[in-house]
Amino acid sequence: MSSAKSEVEKTSICPECGGADIAKSIGIAKMTEAGSIGLGYNTDYFVKASEPLVVDLCRNCGTVVRLYVKKVDKRWVTV
Ligand SMILES: [Zn+2]
Repeated sequence: MSSAKSEVEKTSICPECGGADIAKSIGIAKMTEAGSIGLGYNTDYFVKASEPLVVDLCRNCGTVVRLYVKKVDKRWVTV
């Protein structure tokens, strides 16, 4: 899943340390069970689902540079 390096990405710079060694699209894993922490949304069948959150992480200082989902066209569930 993380082996493809073909996609064109703009260079990210860490706002904390200025480093450019940013690890992209890291999944947020729960320690207790399989699956990812995500943002909830309603599907067309009124089934709640979630879009996984992914992060870009500075390999130098550990700052999470971005926290985002890859698909934004969802009916998001707000609280
Ligand atoms: Zn950094």
